[in-house]
Amino acid sequence: MSSSAILSCEKVTVAFDGFKAVQGMDLKLEKGELRFLIGPNGAGKTTMLDVICGKVKPVSGKVAFESRSGTIDITRRKEHKIAELGIGRKFQAPSIFAGLTVGENLEIAMSQNRSVWATLRASMSKTESERIEAELELIGLQDHRALRAGLLSHGQKQWLEIGMMLLQEPEILLLDEPVAGMTDKETDKTGELLQQIVQKRTVVVVEHDMEFVRNFASKVTVMHEGKLLKEGSMDDVQKDDRVAEVYLGK
Ligand code: ADP
Repeated sequence: MSSSAILSCEKVTVAFDGFKAVQGMDLKLEKGELRFLIGPNGAGKTTMLDVICGKVKPVSGKVAFESRSGTIDITRRKEHKIAELGIGRKFQAPSIFAGLTVGENLEIAMSQNRSVWATLRASMSKTESERIEAELELIGLQDHRALRAGLLSHGQKQWLEIGMMLLQEPEILLLDEPVAGMTDKETDKTGELLQQIVQKRTVVVVEHDMEFVRNFASKVTVMHEGKLLKEGSMDDVQKDDRVAEVYLGK
């Protein structure tokens, strides 16, 4: 791996009852990238996220994570171990505690990073409270700390969940269709949020909303039938005849 690589999937193949959902897929991420993974339904995009976070194990191939303490082969690691190493996964439906306030949701996310002893001491340290305040500002919910999370808009719920993930300090965030169901304004705000996040972390987004991808992607990976079809800038990808044929419908 090159020195700035953070994740490298090599020749990953995933089979479900003999059906190859992903076949010999390579995916390399550089530190600080905002990478979009696109392709028609059934192309194997979500399965690739599942492989990276350890939810699904490949039948062959390798996944290596360049952590702060060196290269780690995570191909056979358990999902929770991979999360602990610094790879966070967000699924489509937000998994927030609707009956708790926005601030409480963030406190819980943060406590998952603390020792049991620190959690038992109950009160948050000043730095932790400031950290939550900073996260609230980043996700645009600074005025809603005391609001019940269930009362947030759909977009705000998604941002809250992203904020909860960030408090666990992942190096890589894997997001599955984060703007699905959002208004245009919420979609743009999400793009801006992701651009801020990649100043410190690496983000992979599986996305169907092509306008969103066009507006925010620097590099795009196109999958088709479990394989890598094309990789490059959105311009390069859009010019590719095979991509147009299988995906963009031109
Ligand atoms: P995408 O995210 O690109 O739409 P997926 O990764 O969800 O594609 O799925 C790729 C293929 O694998 C699809 O044909 C899908 O039906 C199949 N698949 C995904 N998950 C499973 C599973 N758990 N069991 C059986 N088949 C699956």
